[in-house]
Amino acid sequence: MNDLIMEIETIGCTVSCLYPMKKYTWLRVGGLADLVVQPNNSSEFLELLNLLSSSNVPWVVLGEGSNTIVYDKGISGVVISTKKLKKIEIIDETKVLAESGAILGTILNKTIKAGLTGFEFAAGIPGTVGGGIFMNAGANDGEIKDVVDTVWIWLRGEEIALSRSEIKFEYRKSHLPEGSVITKAIFKLEQGNSSESVRSVKNYMTKRNLTQPIKMSNTGSIFKNPPQIAAGQLIEELGLKGFGIGGAKFSDLHANFIVNSGNATARDVLELIETAKREALLQRGIKLETEVRVIGNENN
Ligand SMILES: Cc1cc2nc3c(=O)[nH]c(=O)nc-3n(C[C@H](O)[C@H](O)[C@H](O)COP(=O)(O)OP(=O)(O)OC[C@H]3O[C@@H](n4cnc5c(N)ncnc54)[C@H](O)[C@@H]3O)c2cc1C
Repeated sequence: MNDLIMEIETIGCTVSCLYPMKKYTWLRVGGLADLVVQPNNSSEFLELLNLLSSSNVPWVVLGEGSNTIVYDKGISGVVISTKKLKKIEIIDETKVLAESGAILGTILNKTIKAGLTGFEFAAGIPGTVGGGIFMNAGANDGEIKDVVDTVWIWLRGEEIALSRSEIKFEYRKSHLPEGSVITKAIFKLEQGNSSESVRSVKNYMTKRNLTQPIKMSNTGSIFKNPPQIAAGQLIEELGLKGFGIGGAKFSDLHANFIVNSGNATARDVLELIETAKREALLQRGIKLETEVRVIGNENN
């Protein structure tokens, strides 16, 4: 590992050893990652990906960690953090080019200021371009797929541009080739009216603040909505709203959110998830599928 660290530092990336992933993820749980590596620009990012793919060390890419739970036993290998890859540029009258670590909310603010409309749906989604496209993030009747024009992916040593029609998206899922890393994207918006966009964003945020536990650490919706019923309503009907294990519980405000009272472990959270899955199947015959991603060393 020491040789690898030296090679990574030669590229210019910032390296943190034994990094507590509870400091990285929005739910504030998870053990230590061997290394968290932050490229400072896109060429370092590509060089790092090429280096790691030719090593036998496992690696994973994270944006803001707002949709990710890390096991208590942490992560063996490298977490590549895109947090410094934040460039956003309006490249013609209606198109925005953004690096993989650009925050969706910052793109929203910039595009509204430029008189563009189309990104308002993302108000309050705390992720990045990479995480947002990977998850096909959405809210308020919009999804990222609606505004994607071109996505650049790194795949097995090459950076490739994919047009919107070449990517299959579905509810909270993108079907990018296995092993793809999103490096940047162009979003296509429309000329709009800034005051109307600001009004929509305010309405979305008011609704979010009233219905979601924004004051406590959480990781957004835990489960995808099954076809029959909204996941939050189902969890409530199963009698699990407010139910807790250790330092984690299903929010009293919105049952599809798990909140961390401050001392939750990943194990607490995962036991809650398993409880809801089991009860949904037993009581209602419904198979709940997690929206949140779980990564790291499983056996905790
Ligand atoms: C308070 C709160 C509210 C939320 N509300 C919503 C909502 O309304 N709608 C919604 O859809 N989501 C919501 N989320 C979930 C989350 O914000 C989104 O899924 C977001 O898009 C995740 O982005 P991220 O950068 O944090 O991803 P991360 O959690 O860092 O990563 C998520 C997944 O994407 C992969 N990934 C990240 N970057 C890349 C990349 N560059 N290339 C390839 N793969 C990558 C990771 O490996 C991981 O599997 C919410 C979360 C919170 C905490």
